[in-house]
Amino acid sequence: MAVMIATIVIVGGGQAGAQAVDTLRREGFTQRLVLISDESVLPYQRPPLSKKFLSGEMAVERLLFRHRGFYDEHAVELKLGVRATHIEAAARRVRLSNGEEIDYDRLLLCTGALPRRMSCPGSNLAGVNYLRTVEDAAAIATGLQPGARVVIVGGGYIGLEIAATAREMGCAVAVLEMADRVMNRVVASRVSEYFEHEHRTQGVKIICNTRVVRFEGTGRVERVVCADGSMHPADLLVVGVGAIANTQVAASAGLKCDNGIVVDEFCRTSDPAIFAAGDCSNFFSPRYQSRVRLESVDNAFEQSKAAALNMLDRPMAYDRVPWFWSDQYDNKLLIAGLSSGHDQQLTRGDPATRSFSICYLKGGELLAVEAINHSKDYMAARKLIAERFRPDLDKLANFQIALKDSGGER
Ligand code: FAD
Repeated sequence: MAVMIATIVIVGGGQAGAQAVDTLRREGFTQRLVLISDESVLPYQRPPLSKKFLSGEMAVERLLFRHRGFYDEHAVELKLGVRATHIEAAARRVRLSNGEEIDYDRLLLCTGALPRRMSCPGSNLAGVNYLRTVEDAAAIATGLQPGARVVIVGGGYIGLEIAATAREMGCAVAVLEMADRVMNRVVASRVSEYFEHEHRTQGVKIICNTRVVRFEGTGRVERVVCADGSMHPADLLVVGVGAIANTQVAASAGLKCDNGIVVDEFCRTSDPAIFAAGDCSNFFSPRYQSRVRLESVDNAFEQSKAAALNMLDRPMAYDRVPWFWSDQYDNKLLIAGLSSGHDQQLTRGDPATRSFSICYLKGGELLAVEAINHSKDYMAARKLIAERFRPDLDKLANFQIALKDSGGER
């Protein structure tokens, strides 16, 4: 017999939380629905924060997923600027920072991730910026003045996107990266080389193999000092050295957490009434037969849809091919699949033409594709990877042959 679900509470009003609201109402859940967000803005998308919002081309209103009217119309109790501070799992109750307590039948945690913070001397000085929220972006935007010296610690997606935006706005930009190449954890070395070249051509200083040891300044950060003694004067400093899953409130419920809130493929935590989705979750992937934590719009969007259905007792395993994107200048990097565990890597096309792809295989099966300014390869890859495609390597290496036509003879 179906259990009556009188109240669903969602903690976190980001990409995943907003999508879960949408799916629950669309799927006919008509009972009490509460969305709690510690940000005071209506739920909004984050990708433009390092791109068009930062450059001033996009206003806050355009970041919003839905306007206020949508939440009113769909009877969603929005609690903005309010934090869920504690979960009493046995009583199925959430305590909020405003003193309120809400009982739930199902609870969905969409608490996202927090920027990893620097702990070197000087990291508490004013002017050490991180980028996660619209407020952070607005603060950084005020420093993006023509001629301003911008130092970015970390050459990952976010650091490089900020670098591109800052450079386009006429700033003098330096990126300090500890590894021997940018985006080293997420793309092939040829892709790193390509993007380093693009940034240098635009006039950005990319310095790899360098370790930041302290920030200096009187009251406010003025320069960054590296282990080799080099100093980088900064009118604006932004740190982008990764993010960590936000598991604070999950831990208060005694939920199992390990690099994120541990969930199964049905988005269920170790408590049967509590689910998790998005950047905060560490989920079991049937496709990869391992635990995965992803930080991407697609993952937050699709996993929260699955979580919504599972909360309504309509079982749906979350088992999709992940994908990601990054925009830097006029370059679009599109990634389909996860490359970890590959035993072969192959390049399609020539980076010199500014359009190429890297294909990863395992035991002859296509695992992942990184497509640079080549959306056709990326589109084909998403479908082919899902179908566990086994390409013919000669055809695959021939950029004149479409990826979708690179299969072996049957
Ligand atoms: P979030 O969007 O982080 O939302 C979590 C929300 O929960 C936050 O509002 C947080 O304040 C709130 N919260 C946390 N704890 C509590 C609590 N206890 N009580 C109440 N509220 C709480 N992805 C891409 O795929 N492509 C891109 O180009 C891209 N660019 C990005 C650029 C930037 C600058 C950033 C920051 C991220 C980017 N991402 C990109 C990643 C993408 O935005 C995230 O993967 C996505 O937002 C994750 O959604 P989420 O709902 O899981 O978490």
